[in-house]
Amino acid sequence: MTDQANAKVAEDAGVEQEPNRFETGWDSQEVSRTARSVERIAAGWGDRSQAIKVLRVLCHLTEEEPDRLKPDGDPDQWGFLATEVLGGMVRFNTPGADQWSKDHEKAKNRMKAHWPTIEKTWQRQAATIADGLEAEGLSLQPRLHRAEGGGTGKSNRYGFQFDNPNGMTESARPTEIDLLRVAQVHYRRAHISGNRFVRWLWSRSFDLAGWGGRIYLAFAFAALLGVVSITWIYLIGMSAAGTALTFLKAGLGILLILSASWLVFGWLVRLTIDRVTLAPAFLDPLSKETNYLLEVRESPEAQGNAISLVRYVANCPLCGAHGRDKIHVGSGRLEFFGRLVGRCDRAPNAHVFSFDHVTQRGRFLR
Ligand SMILES: [Zn+2]
Ligand SMILES: [Zn+2]
Repeated sequence: MTDQANAKVAEDAGVEQEPNRFETGWDSQEVSRTARSVERIAAGWGDRSQAIKVLRVLCHLTEEEPDRLKPDGDPDQWGFLATEVLGGMVRFNTPGADQWSKDHEKAKNRMKAHWPTIEKTWQRQAATIADGLEAEGLSLQPRLHRAEGGGTGKSNRYGFQFDNPNGMTESARPTEIDLLRVAQVHYRRAHISGNRFVRWLWSRSFDLAGWGGRIYLAFAFAALLGVVSITWIYLIGMSAAGTALTFLKAGLGILLILSASWLVFGWLVRLTIDRVTLAPAFLDPLSKETNYLLEVRESPEAQGNAISLVRYVANCPLCGAHGRDKIHVGSGRLEFFGRLVGRCDRAPNAHVFSFDHVTQRGRFLR
């Protein structure tokens, strides 16, 4: 039915037409539903204190008469009185509740005593409430509100104000993420601001055909030679071992040497095989940033390959507005063994993306 037709029907029936929610921003039914949900959420906290019961009564009153919280009505009539709220405690068989509904002074003081606790609880539970409402498809965001009567003899009034986030503020999370179609990530080479040594490494690339390459090869060769010869000595020791115990000791020695040398020189091997690898750990403690990579790239100036120190960042598509620069390249751990992956700082084991240093693109791996 169109708006015009709606108005016509209302006119014909001689009743006051409910104002369109898109004109006034007020939807009594949605306010009522929101209040009912908040009450249900609050009931789930397992908090049996009086303050929470007061909050639940306030929700219940709102559910019954949502229009009393209408923001653009008579401000003197907005909200619920302490006598009404505390009188509503008969629901919980609270002793003294019928008295509070009649005695203004008593109810006023009681409510004053409860209100700070209610506000504190509301703050602490803000996320529970917001998520609970979102899960039920409600978009209104209620806030506790007290209208001060002031010194004019008017009573304080209690209730909620409602924010409608639609078109106002961006929700913290995108409401719908299609996990089967997460956007690609684009890795960008980022500035490296670590200490001097790291900056120096970053500022140049090591041309593999030039002196940098010779140092690299000499380093790799020396490491290999060292490991091989020590292992060889141990192997000879093992074959010459007189007892099972010395044999085992020598075997253990080999294992230790191999794993230690992998820790120290493994990056050389990985860099040679994969052309990109996490930079050796000894660079990390020297600077604030982590996640440095070493990569071999074709270098036009060097007319060959060059090794350079790099750092990549990307925006996390799952985190949306909060995901800027949050993805860093790290180890694939056991799940993606032997691979480098992009991990989001906000959820390193959930927002995981593939990493390709040539195309600088990645796709969601979950
Ligand atoms: Zn993320
Ligand atoms: Zn290729």
